[in-house]
Amino acid sequence: MSNITTEQMRFWSPAVRELDPYVPGEQPKIQNILKLNTNENPYPPSPKVVAAVEAVLADSADALRLYPDPDATALKQAIATQQNVDITQVFVGNGSDEVLAHIFKAFFVQDEAIIYPDISYSFYPVYSQFFATKTKEIPLNENFEIDVNDYKQTNGGVIIANPNAPTSIALNLAEIEEVLQANPNRVVVIDEAYVDFGAESAIGLVNQYENLVVCQTTSKSRSLAGLRVGFAIAQAHLIAGLEAVKNSFNSYPMDRFAIAAAVASFEDQAYFEAQCQKVMNSREKLIADLKEIGFKVLPSKANFIFATLPTKDAGALAKELREQGIIVRHFNKPRINQFLRITIGTNEQNQRLVDRLKNQILI
Ligand SMILES: *Cc1c(COP(=O)(O)O)cnc(C)c1O
Repeated sequence: MSNITTEQMRFWSPAVRELDPYVPGEQPKIQNILKLNTNENPYPPSPKVVAAVEAVLADSADALRLYPDPDATALKQAIATQQNVDITQVFVGNGSDEVLAHIFKAFFVQDEAIIYPDISYSFYPVYSQFFATKTKEIPLNENFEIDVNDYKQTNGGVIIANPNAPTSIALNLAEIEEVLQANPNRVVVIDEAYVDFGAESAIGLVNQYENLVVCQTTSKSRSLAGLRVGFAIAQAHLIAGLEAVKNSFNSYPMDRFAIAAAVASFEDQAYFEAQCQKVMNSREKLIADLKEIGFKVLPSKANFIFATLPTKDAGALAKELREQGIIVRHFNKPRINQFLRITIGTNEQNQRLVDRLKNQILI
C-alpha cells in the first residue's frame, strides 16, 4: 500500500481506508530455501488426492465449463462420514480463513466485545476490524497458557485457537467445556487448525452444546494448503446461519478440483494418520535437539514449535537463519518478540536447521 497517495486513496471507501490487513507469512521466490515459516506440511498429500485432481482434469470440458456444486455436497458428506456427524452439521469454505470470516459475520455480537487471547492467530483482530466487532484481548498467563476462568465474563462471543497459535499449547476438553458452560447464550468458536498433531478435538462435544462451532482446515494436517479447503462442525441451526452468510457473499467458494481432492483426502484416513504421526515424531526430536543447544521450547501439540534462545536476540537469529537459507517466523510483538515460530519439517530438514544453528550461527 506504500505507494498509494492520500490523493488516490480518496476513491477508497472510508472503512477500507482504515483497514489494517493481515500479513501472510512470506512465500519466497528464491530456490532452495528451507521454508519453516508458514506451518505447511513437509509431506505431499495422499497419491489418491493427486489421482482425484487428474480425474477432474481428464473430464475438463465439462469440469471447467460448468459451475461446481454450490453446496459441495460430496465434500460435506465425506467430512460428515469421517467426523461421525450428520451432513447438516458440516459447513465448508475456501480455507478456514473464509470459514472464520463467515463465523465472525454470522455469530459475533458487534456491540459487545468478543474475547480471545492477546497472543493468538492474528486474523482475529483483522476480522474484528473488518466486521466492526468490538474486542477484548485476554492476556495469556506467564507461561503463555490460556486460563479458562478468564472466559467466564460478559462477551459478544468467544474464539480460541486450540492448540493456540503461535504458542502451540493446547487446552483439554474439560477446559473447553467450562468455557461452553459459562457462555450458554454466546457462540464459542474453537479454531482447530492444528488439532490433528496431538490435541483433543471438540467435535465430539458438538451434539451436547448448541453454542459450539469447531473450525478445521485441510491446509496443515492434510497437506492441502494450496487447495484452500476449510470446514466447520456445529449443530444444524448454526450451520444454517453460516450458509445464509455464504450465500450472501459467494455461492461457489469450492471449485471442482478442491471438492474432488478434499474428498479423496478424507477417504484416505490411513495416509493422513501416518503423515501426522511422522510430523509428531519429528517434532519431539527437534525439540530435544534445540533444548540441547540451549533453547527453551513451549510444550507443542502442533506442527510448529515456539522457541526462544536466552542468549541471542530472536530477530537477529531469524535474520541470520535467513542468510543461511532457512526462514522461520518472527513476530515483532510485545511479550513474544524473543521467540521464533518454527514449522516442523522432515527429519532431514530439521537436522539442517540444527546443524546451521550449531555450526554457523551459535559458534
Ligand atoms: C493456518 C490457520 C488457519 C487458516 O487456515 P486456512 O489455510 O485458511 O484453512 C486458521 N486458523 C489458524 C489458527 C491457523 O493457523
